[in-house]
Amino acid sequence: MGKITIAIDGYSSTGKSTIAKQLAKALDYVYVDTGAMYRAVTLFAMQEGFIGGDKDDLEGLVHALSKVELKFVYNKSLGFSEMYLNGENVEQQIRTLAVSQQVSKVATIEKVRLKLVGMQKEMGKKKGVVMDGRDIGTVVFPNAEFKIFMTASPETRAFRRYKELLDKGEEVSYKEVLKNVQTRDYIDSHREFSPLKKADDAIEFDNSDMGLKEQLERIYNFALRKIEGN
Ligand code: C5P
Repeated sequence: MGKITIAIDGYSSTGKSTIAKQLAKALDYVYVDTGAMYRAVTLFAMQEGFIGGDKDDLEGLVHALSKVELKFVYNKSLGFSEMYLNGENVEQQIRTLAVSQQVSKVATIEKVRLKLVGMQKEMGKKKGVVMDGRDIGTVVFPNAEFKIFMTASPETRAFRRYKELLDKGEEVSYKEVLKNVQTRDYIDSHREFSPLKKADDAIEFDNSDMGLKEQLERIYNFALRKIEGN
């Protein structure tokens, strides 16, 4: 059976990556977390002092982009790929609230997007990929055979992310996580270059009141129908 391209977009903390990861496993497809790529560039910008200090130097970041080498390395024991920035595993560091608070700003920069979108197109060119992000169905793979747009209420999403961060030992308040989710949604949806929006042919999926098992079952069945009809 021919392989297809599956694009999963949506708001922050809608559980896109959890679904995408499990869907990819069930279909024996490659999973690509594009948010991890924007997060790694952001971590680089913070480490190099381009952002997070008194004044941002986004021009400086753009000039230094050629020094950013990103790689996904498959971790067999975890069963998924981890993000490496210039040879270092940064999987933990890129998931902190500190990075979440800067990432949407970095993701507005056109040159950053061009670099990452180019890599993403390359990674998915053989199909058989489940890619999640904000512009996958609109910009990266506008011809993807199966597109999902995930939504849930901001409070539901913030609460999920808050629990996740607490479980990882981060000291955060629900209020600051909610604010981060809302700010990122706003910046992501209003930026000039490839803003977050539902592709016309994407299926909207609100999972506010749906457990993971039910979501996965529904999306998996949808995907099978798309693959069979391909
Ligand atoms: O998916 P995740 O929440 O990890 O993404 C982090 C941020 O990266 C998003 O809030 C958004 O600003 C940016 N992003 C993007 N385009 C993508 C993936 C992520 O702009 N395809």
